[in-house]
Amino acid sequence: MSETTNPEVMTGNFIHDFIDEDIAEGGKYAGKKVHTRFPPEPNGYLHIGHAKAICVDFGTAEKYGGLCNLRMDDTNPTKEDVEYVDAIKEDIKWLGYDWDDRFYYASDYFEQMYGYAVELIKKGLAYVCELTPDQMRDYRGDTQTPAKSPFRDRPVEESLDLFERMKNGEFEDGSMTLRAKIDLASGNFNMRDPVIYRINRLKHHRTGDKWCIYPMYDFAHPIEDAIEGITHSLCTLEFESHRPLYDWVINNISAPAKPRQIEFARLGINNTVMSKRKLRTLVEEKHVDGWDDPRMPTLCGLRRRGYTPKSIRSFIDQIGVSKVNSIVEYSFLEHCLRDDLNESAERTMCVIHPIKLVITNYPEGKTEEFEVENNPNRPEDGTRTVTFSRECWIEAEDFMEEPIKKYQRLYPGNEVRLKSTYIVKCTGCKKDENGSVVEVYAEYDPETRGGNTPDGRKVRGTIHWVDANNCADAEVRLYDNLFTVPDPDSGERNFLDYLNPNSLEILTGCKAEKNLETAKAPKSFQFMRLGYFCVDNKDSKPGHLVFNRSVSLKDGFKPKK
Ligand code: ATP
Ligand code: MG
Repeated sequence: MSETTNPEVMTGNFIHDFIDEDIAEGGKYAGKKVHTRFPPEPNGYLHIGHAKAICVDFGTAEKYGGLCNLRMDDTNPTKEDVEYVDAIKEDIKWLGYDWDDRFYYASDYFEQMYGYAVELIKKGLAYVCELTPDQMRDYRGDTQTPAKSPFRDRPVEESLDLFERMKNGEFEDGSMTLRAKIDLASGNFNMRDPVIYRINRLKHHRTGDKWCIYPMYDFAHPIEDAIEGITHSLCTLEFESHRPLYDWVINNISAPAKPRQIEFARLGINNTVMSKRKLRTLVEEKHVDGWDDPRMPTLCGLRRRGYTPKSIRSFIDQIGVSKVNSIVEYSFLEHCLRDDLNESAERTMCVIHPIKLVITNYPEGKTEEFEVENNPNRPEDGTRTVTFSRECWIEAEDFMEEPIKKYQRLYPGNEVRLKSTYIVKCTGCKKDENGSVVEVYAEYDPETRGGNTPDGRKVRGTIHWVDANNCADAEVRLYDNLFTVPDPDSGERNFLDYLNPNSLEILTGCKAEKNLETAKAPKSFQFMRLGYFCVDNKDSKPGHLVFNRSVSLKDGFKPKK
């Protein structure tokens, strides 16, 4: 039985309870559509953690018949790149969400943000401060002692003048800031007159050198939300203690809307790292083959690995949305993929460590055709023709000259079923001068066509095989965890010290059913007995087939009792 819930409909959660309350209350949400946004910073590719935020943001809007904007949160002038913007769009579309024409850049609001800062100064709610970053740290106080801010009471006119001159580039980077005038004694340090603008002469990827002052996230974000008419600004838990500042900004500027911030737990997964900075290091130092390396937790990496949008949405839906940070088992993500592919993937055969099996009593030159179901779960997927002849490829490990205990595959004198075709009895093998087996011999029983035994005799082993006279060569890539420990970046650890040197195994000269010759990404298959595989979306070409193992057949996920 498949446990996958229908990912088309988001399961209810506490965010929806809050929104239901807001709608019931009327007030500032009266007559408004629920409006959310997904605000990635375009400084890297999206990862599975972002997928959670995307499903929460777009999924919530969808549930309420509302809207979700896509906004590049590019107020920070460093390391932003068009390459990332395009990739972010592609990944969100791939997951099945659409922002329609509501695609925005936070940097488009710089002028308005500047205006709101001036408004705060005029209201006596912001001032220009000349403390150095070190001084500011020394003056911030502790839980017993309020912060000190010597420039706090400077006249409004003076702050207005200095702020304008900050904007005009008259002062050095870091020499002045604009601070909100809130509460130096607040138990919440984010409220102790936080910096809302800093001087930073860095070229911005969109506004170039136009600005040398940039707004801080806590000031910029609520303004971006308000300008876009966002009703519910859903974000991760680390912003919870910033919410009072979010509300303060919204309540003290003449904001066109009053969005409500709601925080939910970040997604963490074991055996991988999730911060964009660390993922970028893996790429830049070439520990992996790019952002879309199939071992990466990026959405493009997962896509290349063979993950389907459905499996990811189902994963996100099943882990749920809560207020408690937790680490999800990587094996649960794999479980969700297996669940989906078990339903949808066509079955086929491929031999990854081939050795030749010769059926000595089968006529030379003869070929038989067998009609085989593509997917026993989906008869509507039809059948395919598999050919059989005197020679086939089998896995080297499916033959043992001297069988170990309980071995039920090929060894001299033993019978096995070649999947869907005949029962064959092993008669021996040929070895080279080093004693390695180079060919295995068997005789088939013509009475067992289709793999049945008319006399009812028991044949325990069934093995997969590929017609050696009619097959396709393939390269197969097997993957293991990228890291050797479940928590490579915990505490003092340098995650690079825990890279798994065996996370990629490339097998060449594998033998696949001829039918696979024309397979193209994003097609997935179940290779009988070996797992689920997809066509590599980058390296597979006609004449050079490449398959990635998406996930093995064996489910490593054990639900907690
Ligand atoms: P990272 O720490 O990986 O660089 P980030 O938070 O800096 O991530 P952003 O581009 O700012 O990345 O994130 C866009 C949105 O995705 C934010 O709303 C953020 O809260 C959310 N997000 C990022 N990582 C996760 C995660 N692991 N789980 C859930 N949401 C996440
Ligand atoms: Mg961020």
